[in-house]
This record gives sequence, structure tokens and C-alpha cells, in this order.
Amino acid sequence: MFGQNNQNAKENRTLFRHLLSLNLLSSPGSGKTTLIERLLQDLDLITKHPDRPILAGVIVGDLATDHDAEKLRKTGTPTIQINTGNLCHLEAAGVAKAAQQLDLAALDLLIIENVGNLVCPALYDLGEDLRIVVMSVTEGEDKPLKYPATFKSADAVVISKCDIAAAVGFNRAGTMAYLSQVVPQAQVFEVSAKTGEGLGPFYGYLKQVMGSHQARAESYLLQT
Ligand code: MG
Ligand code: ZN
Repeated sequence: MFGQNNQNAKENRTLFRHLLSLNLLSSPGSGKTTLIERLLQDLDLITKHPDRPILAGVIVGDLATDHDAEKLRKTGTPTIQINTGNLCHLEAAGVAKAAQQLDLAALDLLIIENVGNLVCPALYDLGEDLRIVVMSVTEGEDKPLKYPATFKSADAVVISKCDIAAAVGFNRAGTMAYLSQVVPQAQVFEVSAKTGEGLGPFYGYLKQVMGSHQARAESYLLQT
């Protein structure tokens, strides 16, 4: 099962090599779609070439409905909705199929919003460059301990909805301690997609990764 998915993920990696691909994982309701919506509105903040806008595409997975895709399309970004039915995660083959509906060659950035679930999405490589785990301030500080496989697989962790942290009694110290215990390699960002608070460092991170990715893609193109 994983062998086939890993093979498909490898093919996606080839397909996606010229762009930066993100796989966002979280529980339902942690604010992935809102974060993506804000990022799509702020794309000029992560570009390395101010004279050329970043072209993004989105693939969004949900069990049912195309509400998230509808919301994201309003930003003008091509968005493909995958309805997984009763499958609680995205698989590389489904992402490849959805990607055929995007003009991949023209894209600089591909954002994949996984099905809201902190269990099995972690086991399925989609061929992404960066895996970003989102947890909101409304979730318990021990989320990283309860879902270690998912958190351990993260390149970055985004703590969302920071504008309501005080109101919901967010245990910041506890969360940070568990994150550094479970996922010491990940960069952690505390943001509010609503107020924009904390997005600067997150965008700085994406800009930096995107820059090194572009440099790699350009040198690859030069070699071939
Ligand atoms: Mg969503
Ligand atoms: Zn699943």
C-alpha cells in the first residue's frame, strides 16, 4: 500500500520539481483554508522577483463539499477540490490526477490542503517539498504528544488563531515545550490569518525556501 504511494509520490516530485509544493496537515477546524486564503492574498510578500508575480495553484482535499475550493477561488487562484468520500487522507495518485487540471508548468507554488485529520495523512507522502502542520490556539498543548507521527514529519508548525490566544487561555509555554520535544527540527510560527499578526516570519521562511528552490530549479534547467 505504502510502496505504491511512495512510487506515486516520487513521480509527483518529478512533476513538481520546478515549483515549491506545500502539504498542509491539521485537525478539522484549525484554520488551514483561512491561512491559505490569506497567503494567496499576500503572495507578493514572498516573491524573490518583485517584477514577476508568483503564480499559485491549490489542491484541496475534503471528505465532501467544495466549499473550501469555492472560498479559495475567490482569490483568483486556480483551485481543484478533491472529494475523498470516506477516505480520510489524500494520496499521491489523487493529487497527481488533480494536478492534471492545473497548468502546472506555469506555477511557482502548489499548495495542497490535506483532509482535516492528524492521523493518517502523515503516512502518505504526496511528493511535497514542505510539510506544514497547523494547530490552533484552541487545541490542547499536548496535541504534539498525542499525534507524534504527524508532528514529527513536519518541516514547519504553524500555530493559528493567535488573535484569540488570550481569550481561550492558550498554554503557550506548554505548547512550545512539547513541540520542541516532539519536533525539534521544525520552525514554529505563531500567526493570525485574520489580523496578520506573526505572518511576516512565516512568509520570510517561505520566501527563503522558495528562493533556494528556484535556484536549484534554475541550475537544474541549466544542466539539462
Ligand atoms: Mg479546509
Ligand atoms: Zn486516512
